[in-house]
Amino acid sequence: MIDLRSDTVTQPCKDMRRLMSNAMVGDDVYGDDPTVNELERYSATTHGFDASLFVTSGTQANLLAIMAHCERGEEYICGQSAHNYRYEAGGAAVLGSVQPQPIENEADGSICLDKVRSVIKPNDFHFAKTKMLSLENTIGGKVLALDYLSSARALTKKYGLKLHLDGARVYNAKVALNVDIQDISKHFDSMTICLSKGLGAPVGSLLLGDVELIDKARRIRKMLGGGMRQAGILAAAGLYALKNNVERLAEDHDNAAYLAQRVNELPGFDSSAYQVQTNLVFLDVNQEIDMMQFSKAMFDQGINITPGYQGMRLVTHSGIKRADIDTFIDKAKQYFRD
Ligand SMILES: *Cc1c(COP(=O)(O)O)cnc(C)c1O
Repeated sequence: MIDLRSDTVTQPCKDMRRLMSNAMVGDDVYGDDPTVNELERYSATTHGFDASLFVTSGTQANLLAIMAHCERGEEYICGQSAHNYRYEAGGAAVLGSVQPQPIENEADGSICLDKVRSVIKPNDFHFAKTKMLSLENTIGGKVLALDYLSSARALTKKYGLKLHLDGARVYNAKVALNVDIQDISKHFDSMTICLSKGLGAPVGSLLLGDVELIDKARRIRKMLGGGMRQAGILAAAGLYALKNNVERLAEDHDNAAYLAQRVNELPGFDSSAYQVQTNLVFLDVNQEIDMMQFSKAMFDQGINITPGYQGMRLVTHSGIKRADIDTFIDKAKQYFRD
């Protein structure tokens, strides 16, 4: 199957599986799992944080960050299209009693900092207390500029807010900018990383922060049922991913650029309104094309795409080679010819 739906479909490679099967494990709820402990130590150090927590998913990592930074009746500011506002089932509000204050994202994925300033609530009992600003990088495949991050840091410092990064795909940003990961991470009080997307681990995310935040998050993780036992098998995959799978993301970015260019050969497909910066390709599709029928025809020929997601989104990852893109374009051309 040529699966262009998401980078979450990546399969663990042989070497990763070997490390997983050989991993030393213990009961992580007791703090006994040496491989989890190693992953948490390694990831804290490499990203410039004091502490780290290995969790089940990016959604859980974001929820833990929000609940650990914000108390009931407080709020966080985020983008209207932020994953932790839009695609996490309202968890912050439902489980944390924390109110999101979304702001429309700019075309480059950032949130206008003047707008952020204007929604920070004064200390008045009419209002929720504004506690945190949450950014996302990459967001819709777009990379936030480093000087934007430092401006956001300056603003949050000035107003006494915490600054969180949903860094599910932060390594795609790192590779696209060709910078050290700490050039990004140093601006934030906390940060999440998905190990299970382009980095290729089967399961798991990290939450990074200071010791106090991670202690609090560990308690909430237990409350949410996220305490795992012999999780070292999964942590071994995460360690492998961080150590071996970062630089190869550049290949996904090159393939995405190639794919974005070639989809324009298909009648009614147009990627020109969207710039490809990382591994996500967006395009507009002529309304007259029946995307359900098209995607079904593609599926029958071994190509998996999500019809009509935000216009259309295609994602490159370690399971997609350049030849797979050519195959997709050829089969799609054939479909429109018939
Ligand atoms: C995928 C994603 C998440 C959530 O990760 P899951 O592991 O799927 O829960 C959070 N934020 C962003 C930006 C993501 O892309």
